[in-house]
Amino acid sequence: MPGIYLHIPFCKQACNYCDFHFSTSLTSKSAMVAAIQNELIQRKEYTGSGIIETIYFGGGTPSLLTKADLLQIFDTIYANFNVASDAEITLEANPDDLTPDYLKELKTTPVNRLSIGIQSFRNEDLLWMNRAHHSGQALSCVEEAAAAGFNNISIDLIYGIPDMTNDQWKENLKIALQLPVTHLSCYCLTVEPKTALGHFVSKKYLKMPEDELTSIQFKTLLSAAEKAGFIQYEISNLCKPGYFSKHNTSYWKGIHYLGVGPSAHSFNGITREWNVSKNALYIKSVMENNRKSESEVLTTENRFNEYIMVSLRTMWGIDLNYLKSTFSDDYYKHLLTEATPFIAGGDLVTNNDHLYLSISGKLIADKLASDLFI
Ligand code: SF4
Repeated sequence: MPGIYLHIPFCKQACNYCDFHFSTSLTSKSAMVAAIQNELIQRKEYTGSGIIETIYFGGGTPSLLTKADLLQIFDTIYANFNVASDAEITLEANPDDLTPDYLKELKTTPVNRLSIGIQSFRNEDLLWMNRAHHSGQALSCVEEAAAAGFNNISIDLIYGIPDMTNDQWKENLKIALQLPVTHLSCYCLTVEPKTALGHFVSKKYLKMPEDELTSIQFKTLLSAAEKAGFIQYEISNLCKPGYFSKHNTSYWKGIHYLGVGPSAHSFNGITREWNVSKNALYIKSVMENNRKSESEVLTTENRFNEYIMVSLRTMWGIDLNYLKSTFSDDYYKHLLTEATPFIAGGDLVTNNDHLYLSISGKLIADKLASDLFI
């Protein structure tokens, strides 16, 4: 069942590691909300007659939208799409925006899931990352969100931060797992070239931690989360039973989605399409009913490689029967041949016609997947 992704391209300040599309100038926020409403109307046929099961406000910082902004967008969605009554509706939020008053207002909108960008509970890390919040807000916003009535709360944390010891990471996890959260997204810090972090590393002002330490931190995450009753259902995503992110899971399962807003991607099973990444051009082109976007038709090869890449990262693994029935024999044989040394080496495990990553395989997931590509 399809989903809708809405990209809200504004942030209070730029975090030093981030290469998402956003602007720190909020002057065009109202015009952006109007353009997003227009794009929703212009593309209401994209999801066909499918019932919308998930709506996801990502960014950027969607919690910079006021209740009035959100209600305008929801009015447009409900007037033009058939939304399931139990749809999962997520808003990404930053701790500094989640004041008790804002949370109370959010609770009166259709939003029923929060994904909070905590990243760390340590002030040293937050300052270093140039986050807009401090550790006190990181802690209080989760408690206050729960007190406001949100019972499906995800938080993001980052490990692999320069100079962060494994004990400090353990402490971050301990705090996180004592909070009323149902879902954790934990990412290893990566260096993107056009970011402040990329600049610091290329100039050698900063040294990223060795792989050995990030592997230890990954294993620390797995054991702490497992003890707290969380399931690792994707390499970076863990949840309490029944709290999988339906929206993200649909990306990994190849379900169709409509992406609205600058830089947002859409997928209809055959074609991937992405909007222009410039706010002003996006607004102008949508308002003139001439939306700027690019697209690519996925070849069989692309679809095979994408299936390998995403399914391998999940606890559902590669379904060999699905692969056999969807792709030609050559693709199936190719996979088995390439997978054999990884199975022998213990990085891949086979069970019930599925291929899964072992813990050692998870540490080299991207490289392993690319070795299985056609
Ligand atoms: S708040 Fe999120 S989207 Fe904005 S700069 Fe920081 S990491 Fe990037």
